[in-house]
Amino acid sequence: MRRTYTREVFGSEAITPLKPLGPGLALQALSNGPTLAFKDMAMQLLGQLFEYELARRGETLNILGATSGDTGSAAEYAMRGKKGVRVFMLSPHGRMSPFQQAQMFSLPDANIHNLAIDGVFDDCQDIVKAVSNDLEFKRRHRIGTVNSINWARLLAQVVYYFAGYFQATTTDDERVSFAVPSGNFGNVCAGHVARMMGLPIDRLVVATNENDVLDEFFRTGRYRVRGAADTHETSSPSMDISKASNFERFVFDLLGHDEGAAARTGQLFGVDVARGGFELTAEEFGRVRGFGFVSGRSTHADRIATIRDTQQRFGVTIDPHTADGLKVAHEHRRPGTTMLVLETALPIKFAATIREALGREPERPASLAGIEDLPRRCKLLAADTAAVKSYIANHCGP
Ligand SMILES: *Cc1c(COP(=O)(O)O)cnc(C)c1O
Repeated sequence: MRRTYTREVFGSEAITPLKPLGPGLALQALSNGPTLAFKDMAMQLLGQLFEYELARRGETLNILGATSGDTGSAAEYAMRGKKGVRVFMLSPHGRMSPFQQAQMFSLPDANIHNLAIDGVFDDCQDIVKAVSNDLEFKRRHRIGTVNSINWARLLAQVVYYFAGYFQATTTDDERVSFAVPSGNFGNVCAGHVARMMGLPIDRLVVATNENDVLDEFFRTGRYRVRGAADTHETSSPSMDISKASNFERFVFDLLGHDEGAAARTGQLFGVDVARGGFELTAEEFGRVRGFGFVSGRSTHADRIATIRDTQQRFGVTIDPHTADGLKVAHEHRRPGTTMLVLETALPIKFAATIREALGREPERPASLAGIEDLPRRCKLLAADTAAVKSYIANHCGP
């Protein structure tokens, strides 16, 4: 912990400082880590834990993952140079933003392997699943993952809800709401855990983009997963998901966190989701409010308007994901309760949308000047499980 959350890694003593946007409203900055997105908050800790525990056991680990942007770079920057760990990260060739590609492919560390797959993100994910399902291969090559249902990642994220609360309040009887730009329900699930631990959270505001599976659920009690073909490509791409991995954890708590809830959750996620989704009973859905959850959705036009408005009124540039959070936050503010909007990335990662909204380039932290010009390390492979397996077998060490 002490080695992870430092000024050197996260840029300030506060680690997740608040940026006020007028009375009762502030951003909580989670995006000042090495890759400028909130996934650093958990992944940096995971890197330290892996190195420590692998050394203690005298073991090594090969991390296999698929990314469309933020997760992969966060994993690579957390694991780079760590003893005993190698990373094999699949990404869809030519589909990440130029900045994201530069961020990942410019890493010089020998333990980082970028595999650009000739296909889309779903192809990458399918290959990771196929490799992980080959148990013999997995064991022989000591393969592990760091995906968003990793419990250590979730635990690390719980902490900044407390940090936000303590910065925003002066007494313990105040309540604070959090608006969370959501995709896989990982970030906001950590907020739910913080609330269950007793943190006086008033509302947890789930903000989605046009991929509004979660918004639909929190408005209606219906969870309708979409196919890959119905997943929109949006200007807040890290929220472009059609099935929320961590959502099952919340539903289990909602249904009572006991044996009955386990059986019902097993039916809903083990059987019904494969058939397209489920609908809660009115009584079950009625409990959602008691857990503090509300929701809303935001569109491309909303993002552009919110980025412009925030720039004009406060002189603050926000990224498109944070804009989704802020847009929906406004719909759920209550007098007397501070609303914190989690800032999940810095604008430089999504320059095209900032240009569209503001007509200029976003600011770039000095440490990242010119990364597009650095030499790139990346292996182009066909969307073929056998090709990926053979690359891993040849590069995963003794
Ligand atoms: C991953 C990500 C999200 C979504 O977070 P979840 O935990 O998947 O809900 C939102 N914004 C940014 C910038 C991200 O990288």
